[in-house]
Amino acid sequence: MPTPPLRVAVIGTGVIGAMTAWHLAARGAEVLALDAYGPGHDRGASAGESRIFRTAYKEGASYIPLLRRSYELWRRLESEADRALLTLCGGLTLGAPDHPDLRAVRGSAAEHGLDIEVLDAAQAARRFPQHRLDDGEIAVLDPRAGVLRPEPAVQAALARARALGARLLPYHRVTGLDERPGGGWRVRAENPAGEATYDADHVVLSPGPWSGSFARLAGLPLRGRRITAAWFAARDVAAHRPDRLPIAIRRHPEAGFSCFPVLDGTAVKIVPHHLPWPDAEAPEDLPRGADAGFARAASAAVARLLPGLVPHPVRIGVYAEAFSADEHALLGPLPGARDATLLAGFSGHGFKLAPVFGEIAASLVTEGKSAYDISFLDPARFGG
Ligand SMILES: Cc1cc2nc3c(=O)[nH]c(=O)nc-3n(C[C@H](O)[C@H](O)[C@H](O)COP(=O)(O)OP(=O)(O)OC[C@H]3O[C@@H](n4cnc5c(N)ncnc54)[C@H](O)[C@@H]3O)c2cc1C
Repeated sequence: MPTPPLRVAVIGTGVIGAMTAWHLAARGAEVLALDAYGPGHDRGASAGESRIFRTAYKEGASYIPLLRRSYELWRRLESEADRALLTLCGGLTLGAPDHPDLRAVRGSAAEHGLDIEVLDAAQAARRFPQHRLDDGEIAVLDPRAGVLRPEPAVQAALARARALGARLLPYHRVTGLDERPGGGWRVRAENPAGEATYDADHVVLSPGPWSGSFARLAGLPLRGRRITAAWFAARDVAAHRPDRLPIAIRRHPEAGFSCFPVLDGTAVKIVPHHLPWPDAEAPEDLPRGADAGFARAASAAVARLLPGLVPHPVRIGVYAEAFSADEHALLGPLPGARDATLLAGFSGHGFKLAPVFGEIAASLVTEGKSAYDISFLDPARFGG
């Protein structure tokens, strides 16, 4: 008798769960993909119009092979789903040459032979007048960087998973997870029609900033934080589109932010890094706007450093993200459980890597191993 396919419940289909469902379905697993909301929703971590992709990576050299693979997988998903998801508009890191982030980007590029260009303040002002640099500052340009489209990406990965046989269960909030005595799990979920249970051989937990609501994850150093983005109208919209404005990470004594070109509308998005990212226990309860103090401080940063924008926000977006204690993800077997894989705590940098994280999770579930060195992401490093 042929062996029945492995039945895997993926709990949480933000970008991480969606990519995992895609890869699992491609490997022939029978996938149930549950989410409390609909694909591409804006309550969690995977929304807000744009995300940065970059290869010269300040977060550590261990990520470079993962980023290379992720790039290939973004292109594969685009081709399979017939959707444009990644625009390689280049990426700037701007600031003082001795700022740790600028040193780290140059160091990682040198170590891995990545092409970068280093511009002094005058050269940067000529090429990228959208940014104001102080004397002595520099801009490092990574040509293999760009902007990702988060909502279409989640929807594309889930559409591919469904085309490959996955069963998508949006609006199914998981309320209980019980290990079955003989192996595998019973998953309880509330949906608009009532409560339902599902049996699975393996569960993948990818609940993003809701990690704190899962008793099974108590004890792991994960916390939700609120991240606020603000959009500012461009005076010359054409000069702020991706063909003229790379994504950017700005480091300056008065402000720090990531900056995204105009995509669908007429405004540039910034995500301030110098303003607080407060704890967010329940993403449902996040305020959907920002206080006047945030708006004033973000406006001051724009007035100082982005002269082509009207320095008053035209839109605010509030999102939540799960951070781990060391700001590296937890990816691997769930400590203390059988037949369970955890993907959590992406700490503000999971989007660009989501396709490769999903591929790694699918290998761990179906083969018990991965071709990549992910020991630095093992959830057991925290002693679980
Ligand atoms: C404002 C902001 C800017 C960022 N910028 C970048 C960037 O430029 N580049 C980059 O690489 N990364 C960036 N990140 C990080 C990246 O977006 C996240 O790491 C990534 O989106 C995390 O995805 P996730 O699937 O873990 O979480 P989510 O997208 O939050 O998905 C978790 C899912 O689990 C579901 N869920 C939770 N509990 C349950 C339950 N009980 N039952 C069923 N479903 C449940 C939720 O509904 C949700 O859909 C940024 C994050 C934020 C917030």
